[in-house]
Order: sequence, then structure tokens, then C-alpha cells
Amino acid sequence: MPENRTSQPRLDPRKPLVLDTRELGRRPGSMRPLKIQVVAPAGLGVGLIGVPEGAPLDLDLRLESVLEGVLVSGTAAAPVVGECGRCLESFDSTVEVDVQELFAYPASVTDLTSDDDEVSRLRGDLIDLEPIMRDAVVLALPTNPVCREDCPGLCPECGAHWDDLPGDHTHDQVDPRWAALQNLVQEPPVVADGEQPPPAAESQEK
Ligand SMILES: [Zn+2]
Ligand SMILES: [Zn+2]
Repeated sequence: MPENRTSQPRLDPRKPLVLDTRELGRRPGSMRPLKIQVVAPAGLGVGLIGVPEGAPLDLDLRLESVLEGVLVSGTAAAPVVGECGRCLESFDSTVEVDVQELFAYPASVTDLTSDDDEVSRLRGDLIDLEPIMRDAVVLALPTNPVCREDCPGLCPECGAHWDDLPGDHTHDQVDPRWAALQNLVQEPPVVADGEQPPPAAESQEK
């Protein structure tokens, strides 16, 4: 991608998932553990489930200086709020993801031989974990969230939760043995449309 790297927007160090690697130094082999709680940004989720914006996001990471850049690895954990795909009730859960990402130094071999969307980059001393975190969390979340594995969902006729309905809840389900009789009773009278009864018969009945 022919791109002028100097035009890259600077990272905002106040953003919760922008981390400063200055203390780490750039000596390959140096390592710094980083165990912090940050505020979850918007967009950590998909469809009916996700980490609420502002929720506590626990990072348990290791920043390692390697030849090509800074290697970030560890885990991230956060609360999750979802909507059950079967009963539509909201439910609470948690998500924990593994993170491993290389942030390449400017002008390193990796920097010069890969695109920005392939390998993350350091911007000055800063790295932005937000895109990595978003991808990892979205991947870890279920595509069809349910409040519990055996959630029975809703009655398709009345929309009530099966948990709240008696076991024999039905809607006009006719016993097949009676259905045949019911058809006999409901058989329409054999009178052709528009046919009038003979006037003689009517006068006789009166
Ligand atoms: Zn449910
Ligand atoms: Zn029902």
C-alpha cells in the first residue's frame, strides 16, 4: 500500500486502550508485565451481544521488546450483556480472550515489508490495542447468544416464555381422533348457492 506513514493520525494517549511502551525501552529481551483495568470502549461486540461501553476491561498483559517491535501477549476479560436469541430476555455473562500481537517499529524489516492491515505499528512509543481487542472479543462471542443452553424460548402462538407456561399449554390443538368427527359435524348443508326453497314447501310449513 503506497502510503505516506507520516500522515498516519497520532494516537490519543488518553484513550483507554492506547498504551505507552516508553518504559519498556527498545532493548530486545526487556519485558514488562502490565496488569490494569481500563474502561471498555464502544464497539466491543456484535449483534445481540457485547461488552457495554464503560464496563471494566481487565488486561493481564506482557509487553516484550523483540527485534522487530513490541510483542504484546496475555489475556483480557470483561463483562458481557447479551439478548437471548430464543426468549429475547437480556442476560449477563463474561468474556475472556487471549491476545498476542506484534507492534512493529517504524523502519523495521516488518514495517517495510508488510501492510498496515497485516501487522500493527508503533506510533512513536504508543500502541493501540483497541482494534486487536475488538477483533478478539467479536470472535470469542457466540453468534447465536442464548441466556442458557436449554432455554426453551417462546410459544410461537402467544409469545409467552415456555418456562412460565404449564406443560400442557396448547392453542386449539384438536385431538386427531376427534378431528374426523368435527369435520362431519361442520360439513356444510348440501344446498347450491342462490337456490331458493320451493314456495310450496314454505307455505306448507306455516
Ligand atoms: Zn432465553
Ligand atoms: Zn402459547
